[in-house]
Amino acid sequence: MSVQDPRLAERLAGNLAAVRRRIDDAARAAGRDPASVALLAVSKTWPAEAVAAVAALGQRDFAENRVQELSGKAAALAADEGVPQLRWHLVGQLQRNKAAAVVRLGATVHSVDREPLVAALARAAEAQERVVDVLVQVDLGGPEGELGERGGAPPDEVPRLADAVAAAGGLRLRGLMAVAPRGGDPAPAFERLAALAVRVRADHPAASELSAGMSGDLEAAVTAGATVVRVGTALFGSRPLASDAEDPHGTRARS
Ligand SMILES: *Cc1c(COP(=O)(O)O)cnc(C)c1O
Repeated sequence: MSVQDPRLAERLAGNLAAVRRRIDDAARAAGRDPASVALLAVSKTWPAEAVAAVAALGQRDFAENRVQELSGKAAALAADEGVPQLRWHLVGQLQRNKAAAVVRLGATVHSVDREPLVAALARAAEAQERVVDVLVQVDLGGPEGELGERGGAPPDEVPRLADAVAAAGGLRLRGLMAVAPRGGDPAPAFERLAALAVRVRADHPAASELSAGMSGDLEAAVTAGATVVRVGTALFGSRPLASDAEDPHGTRARS
């Protein structure tokens, strides 16, 4: 899966370097080690060739927001001997009936937001004799603090959900994930997320990952303590489908 267009490869290399520089600068400004912040490349809507091109630059962690797209791309890239082995992450809302599929892909799930999904993932992990890395997604609210805007569990339900993940066989609680409210200053929302993460870590010391920050707000997230930033647009370019930017979690359907 070689990249046909050398200008595409060049553009992606420039973008990747620029994103990494933004992360490193934000980390240093916050007095943090730049190596403590990982980049997760969000490849949703982009073809497998673009993923292969970014992988050729050394990136290994990629995320999708839909299981079907993830599974198609992962299969295409795994079949190509020229592409190194990649680590996949799911950052979009997950329906229970897709739990087995996502477990089969060995993906880290950043978007666990309710107990029935915990149970479904645990059942699938047990059936497939796999261990699944899980982050609990926190709803940081909309611009006015209203819940339900950008997915995730209400903050006061997060400790209990974290306990459920930690208690479930086959699941490993890795930390918390969130998307900042649309519009306005993301910093206060990320501070609330970081405070919640401290609470969860008191009971689950291994849950050390904080997945926060996207193309538009990664600096604020790194300042607040993000260990993983999820970047799509600043790396790959503007997504061709406008509707996707409106609904970064993919389908709102629940099971
Ligand atoms: C699409 C998406 C991202 C990446 O967003 P960009 O603004 O394109 O960087 C990050 N996190 C989630 C949950 C997403 O759905």
